[in-house]
Amino acid sequence: MELYELNLYMLTEGLKAKKFSASEIFESCKNRIDKCEDNIRALITRTDSTPQTSENPEGVLGGIPTILKDNLCTRGIRTTAASKILGDWKPPYDATAWKLLRESGAVLMGKANMDEFAMGNTCGNSAFGPTHNPNDISRVPGGSSGGSAAAVSAGYVPFSLGSDTGGSIRQPASFCGVYGLKPTYGMVSRYGLISYGSSLDQIGPFARTVRDLQLVMSVISGHDPMDSSSFRDKAHDFTHREDVSLKGKRVAVVKEFQGFGLDAPISEAMKRTLKVLEDEGAIITEVSLPVVSKYAVACYYALAMSEAHTNLERYDGVRLGYTVKDATGIKEMFERVRSYGFGAEVKARIIAGTCLTEPTRCEEYYVAATKVRTLIAQEFSRAFGETDYIIQPVTPSLPGKIGEADDDAMKGYETDLYTLPVNLAGLPGLSFFTGYAGNLPVGLQLIGRRWSDSELLDAGIILERHLGSPKIADGGQATARKKLYLEER
Ligand code: GLN
Repeated sequence: MELYELNLYMLTEGLKAKKFSASEIFESCKNRIDKCEDNIRALITRTDSTPQTSENPEGVLGGIPTILKDNLCTRGIRTTAASKILGDWKPPYDATAWKLLRESGAVLMGKANMDEFAMGNTCGNSAFGPTHNPNDISRVPGGSSGGSAAAVSAGYVPFSLGSDTGGSIRQPASFCGVYGLKPTYGMVSRYGLISYGSSLDQIGPFARTVRDLQLVMSVISGHDPMDSSSFRDKAHDFTHREDVSLKGKRVAVVKEFQGFGLDAPISEAMKRTLKVLEDEGAIITEVSLPVVSKYAVACYYALAMSEAHTNLERYDGVRLGYTVKDATGIKEMFERVRSYGFGAEVKARIIAGTCLTEPTRCEEYYVAATKVRTLIAQEFSRAFGETDYIIQPVTPSLPGKIGEADDDAMKGYETDLYTLPVNLAGLPGLSFFTGYAGNLPVGLQLIGRRWSDSELLDAGIILERHLGSPKIADGGQATARKKLYLEER
């Protein structure tokens, strides 16, 4: 077995026992990236750090390589949000989540591809071209954190970070066959995360086991005075325990979702998982979420686009990023910078967000959406009076072919139905692996109450025990598949 194949906790234990060195891990991961990256294209920037640059070799993550989504600021290292508008901007500060990893000894191997400004669910909206799913390189890895998920799935690194505004951790995790946690809103500081929809954005980890997610969460969660939305109460305990149980816990399916079409492998995965839960002593029930099922998609996109349009106002070519020097006036400068700098999807959302919040329409759209959001949050709190967890798909279908869905934005938005309500209500959601359909992984989602992240991961441990952990996707054989993919094109 090669070192890149080991999970995070195995690597940390092996290092402690001096079975291998951080340099050996680093070499193994580096070779793995060299071997697969031409085919997978998970990275926008590769960094030249080495294990010798670890700030804390004795720390919990001493010498462990990692990768960050390229909307997380890294001091002195280009951060693009997969947009041309940031040029080769090098942030003067670190995102808190990265600072915490760094201080625990982690070493940065690269910045991962994503949909521009995290808008999308295929990784196809990147100014740097698409990332390929390591399980089948003709298919999308999901998005927007597609590069972060692909990197972990292909064995580049044992864990990575992404961000989730409406599904961007959970959906690529399920498409690539890894675990992904979207923490409760406020659980992880978002200082240094390039904003998309600030009332929805949350940073979270990807890994190949649930136990690894626990380890990463124990490092990155906590209060940060630099993010006023981060929680202030006592620290949450993410310690891994084996003696966890679901006996007597209620797990609900959503009544309204039962009538919606799902690809066969996903509904089969659901049946299998419900059986596992029952065998573990959980009580399967049903909750009703009528407002969520009817209005969540419209509500989310109205809010996300409104927030995006204000958040993206700051990219004007004045202080940082791409600019033009020969404009005849400020108006021409803004126009040229923004016309060239933003991609089509981002522009469409800025325009939509401008209309949704424009004074004569604001009540009817933006304000109405904030009210629907309150109803959605209330609906979830009612449901969580009747159940401890909600189980549902991550997406209605398995990953599609690259380029396939590019001209139908609305259809793409609708496929976020199962993930985005979780962000509207600020809840934690775990995307977990259930098995393979052919060579494609099939994931599902478990949702918990606010601040129940550690219990959610305990439940994940049990599910993983029964359903098995994912294998590293065979990016190494991608050379053969690449030929196939090129021929198909
Ligand atoms: N697909 C959703 C969107 O484009 C969610 C993206 C995300 O979570 N960043 O808004």
